[in-house]
Amino acid sequence: MRITAIRSIVVPLQGAISNSLVNFSEHTVSLVAVVSDVIRHGRPITGYAFNSIGRYAQDGLMRERFIPRLLTAAPEALLNDANDAFCPGRAAAIMMRNEKPGGHGDRAAAIGALELAFWDLNAKLRDEPAYCTIARQAGRSPEHVSTAVYAAGGYYYDSGDSRARLKAEFEQYRSQGFVKFKMKIGGASLSEDLARIDAALTVAGDGANLAVDANGRFNLATALAYARALEPYRLRWFEEIGDPLDYHLNRQVAQAYEGRIATGENLFSLPDVDNLLRFAGLRADRDILQMDAGLSYGLTEYMRMVNAVEAAGHSRRCLHPHGGHLINLHIAIGLGLGGCEAYPGVFQPFGGYPEICKLGDGMVSATSAPGFGLEQKRELAPFIATLANAG
Ligand code: MG
Repeated sequence: MRITAIRSIVVPLQGAISNSLVNFSEHTVSLVAVVSDVIRHGRPITGYAFNSIGRYAQDGLMRERFIPRLLTAAPEALLNDANDAFCPGRAAAIMMRNEKPGGHGDRAAAIGALELAFWDLNAKLRDEPAYCTIARQAGRSPEHVSTAVYAAGGYYYDSGDSRARLKAEFEQYRSQGFVKFKMKIGGASLSEDLARIDAALTVAGDGANLAVDANGRFNLATALAYARALEPYRLRWFEEIGDPLDYHLNRQVAQAYEGRIATGENLFSLPDVDNLLRFAGLRADRDILQMDAGLSYGLTEYMRMVNAVEAAGHSRRCLHPHGGHLINLHIAIGLGLGGCEAYPGVFQPFGGYPEICKLGDGMVSATSAPGFGLEQKRELAPFIATLANAG
């Protein structure tokens, strides 16, 4: 069993939306295909994946370094000990040959996409959904085929009545079956953000149903001012308050703010997560961690992070991976995490879930499609077909 080809394409993200720091109209994602020599129904079994959302396509890094390293490796070096499946962890190690440690920038997303495609491929070889493959590899049996999900949105739009638009957006999510929501803050004044939160709460109801995300925007003084103003709302969580690597700031806010803090989506390696756990003042009884396998070298590295989180006394239920899409749905179910997010209506063709994934009462289900089921996502299917037919 061997890999015969690896392909990638750059797919633009749809949507002119902004958080407090980033406008997504220029953003792209790498969609990759890892093609095996195993033929089923007349076609080679192929693993597909992408590097989550938010770090741009990584076509150059893949083409110049990581794909050649995989294709020139001895075929058996990519297999597991039993030679009956590919080994995503070994694939990641091969891609990291001649790479210095540290930094963990865009290459973590490039390797993440390719490593995840090996998981999709392995699940298809066994003709099972990826959450089953993931659970087995982690020594678990999946307890459910669904997981908790919340609707992430509430972005800043270029024009129009921001509060009315936010309220209408959340009403739409509620009609789709979502009961928990997340919105952006930090892109307006504190008073305007509080007015937006009030508007969102007319739909979300209780503060426990509404999280807010500052996308790393605040310095310590602003972070503490927001923490003071937000505390009475008893919100679900206060996300990415300052720079993702500013553990000192996170610790200061954790000491001043009773509510939950969420962070981790912009940490791309186990050493960074170890340092977060050591130095950021996180509270094991409440805080939320949002690392994302597609941005951080793939699922093998992510599973090491889960182990580190548990070793530090936190429950794996505190893990809610960033990047609401099918890959993280399977990871959340397979590893028994706290849940995942969804971006209904934005970040197409990658965001959200196909209609066949039943959504209701704040839960979303994986289907029985083999692998991550990316082929079932109507918006994504044409790009997958392009990759499949490129050989
Ligand atoms: Mg976030």
